[in-house]
Amino acid sequence: MSSPFGQFPGYRPRRLRQSPALRRLVAETRLSVDQLVLPLFAVGGKKVRRQVGSMPGVFQLSTDELVREAARAHELGVPAVLLFGIPAAKDARASGAYAQNGIVQRAVRELKRALPEMIVITDVCLCEYTAHGHCGVIKPGDKSGRVQNDPTLELLARTAASHAAAGADMVAPSDMMDGRVRAIRTRLDRDGFTDTPIMSYAAKFASAFYGPFRDAAESTPKFGDRRSYQMDPSNSREAMREVALDIEEGADIVMVKPALAYLDIISRVKNEYGYPTAAYSVSGEYSMIKAAAKNGWVNERAAMMESLLAMRRAGADIVITYAAAEVAAWLRDS
Ligand SMILES: [Zn+2]
Repeated sequence: MSSPFGQFPGYRPRRLRQSPALRRLVAETRLSVDQLVLPLFAVGGKKVRRQVGSMPGVFQLSTDELVREAARAHELGVPAVLLFGIPAAKDARASGAYAQNGIVQRAVRELKRALPEMIVITDVCLCEYTAHGHCGVIKPGDKSGRVQNDPTLELLARTAASHAAAGADMVAPSDMMDGRVRAIRTRLDRDGFTDTPIMSYAAKFASAFYGPFRDAAESTPKFGDRRSYQMDPSNSREAMREVALDIEEGADIVMVKPALAYLDIISRVKNEYGYPTAAYSVSGEYSMIKAAAKNGWVNERAAMMESLLAMRRAGADIVITYAAAEVAAWLRDS
């Protein structure tokens, strides 16, 4: 059978790799600053800038500092931030998550006041706000870490609505409860936020690569783990069902998390649904490159750019990365 493509020696692929300009001309995929989202961690207080030990260059920021950090990224062209909050107090009902004057709600208001053009996305989950560190409600006395699905939905919906009321441009539920996108969509619509999009963490896997994040968000479960609600890393067909459910329930953007070890999932999601697709390059991915670079084992910029480009090549339209501001500067200077 003859090949539909050229054959050696008539066809020589190296011809188009001879110069930087030629390589740029035929590049199939590009990473652009327009696609980047920077996650930020808000804490109470003033002038607080607390380095996260396991994530060099990442800080817990009081809202004044957070606005400065966001402004710096915005000047470099980063269009969006994704907010996480670390409350002063935690309880069984995660009441800090939906408090009108909660840490995220305050951060959103200050950000929108200072940077009205910047897209402010809020992470919607309960784990930073529950005393046990799980992503939902647990029956008192139950030490198995079994989160009760349906009672959690109401609290997630309240949280999302309170973010929208504070001025959030988009909400991003990360809890992995069944039915939460519909619960949030219904509540947002009821409260008059029909134009607030939902970016769902549609296929979120129970991953070892979240380790450093838990230092940053102070959200490590006190007992048990998250494997009864986050996905098993073995499963890609199940991931397609999760994504289909979220789309049916009203998700506007679907996310795959983590990214680098799940490029096949990103690719399938994009090919099968064609929805706007986000890849969350998680803390472990970031910190591995940072640590290796610090030891002189990899070139930080090259390794970071290559791994983020891989997410684009797999099909991600949006790339969420802790390196967003650095990457924006590299893209500007390249
Ligand atoms: Zn959570």
